[in-house]
Amino acid sequence: VAGHYRILVTGSRSWTDIDAIWQAFTLAAGRCPPEHVITLVNGQCDPIDPQLGEYVPWMRAVHMPRPQKYALPGLDWLAAQVAAESGWRLEFHPAAAGSGPRGPILRNVEMVHTRPDECLAFAGACTITGCRKPPRGLRHPTHGTQHCGLLAHTTGIPTTWWPGPGLAGWFTRKQHLTQGRNSPPCPQQLPHVDGVTLTHPGDGLLW
Ligand SMILES: [Zn+2]
Repeated sequence: VAGHYRILVTGSRSWTDIDAIWQAFTLAAGRCPPEHVITLVNGQCDPIDPQLGEYVPWMRAVHMPRPQKYALPGLDWLAAQVAAESGWRLEFHPAAAGSGPRGPILRNVEMVHTRPDECLAFAGACTITGCRKPPRGLRHPTHGTQHCGLLAHTTGIPTTWWPGPGLAGWFTRKQHLTQGRNSPPCPQQLPHVDGVTLTHPGDGLLW
């Protein structure tokens, strides 16, 4: 092993787009120098039960069957599953217990200060009714993702944004931010998960 390539992920807790994660990870793996071990730097936010709308404790979710795991929304959670299946290492930075609403923000600062080699920000749209966060009248990414991704970007860590639906206007406003592009289509299929078909966009870097 010649070294370590650490990839920070941040994203919305309602994130479900597994295909975007595969695309982003394939492209990121292509930027990793040869003979390096890839580590996913992850805030370990609990996934959501899509039926109940409640958080599922991470340590309970890890014992679920694979199809059930992939049916739980949450970017940290889904990214960890894809990384583990890709043979990447996992580095977790959960928010400190009892740290209140500032906990996740302080945790984001901690993760960025570990100087990851790059950051992938999977931005879903904020769904807070009447949210007053500027710019007014423009749909914007969920706040934690916005904080972590913009902090990484302004700290000089190469950051790629993967916008979810409804955020084209925000990203047009933020033209200096790098957006992920779709890879060329590839016929290769990832192992099928019941109810979820993972199509691999790349050249088999991850498998
Ligand atoms: Zn908002």
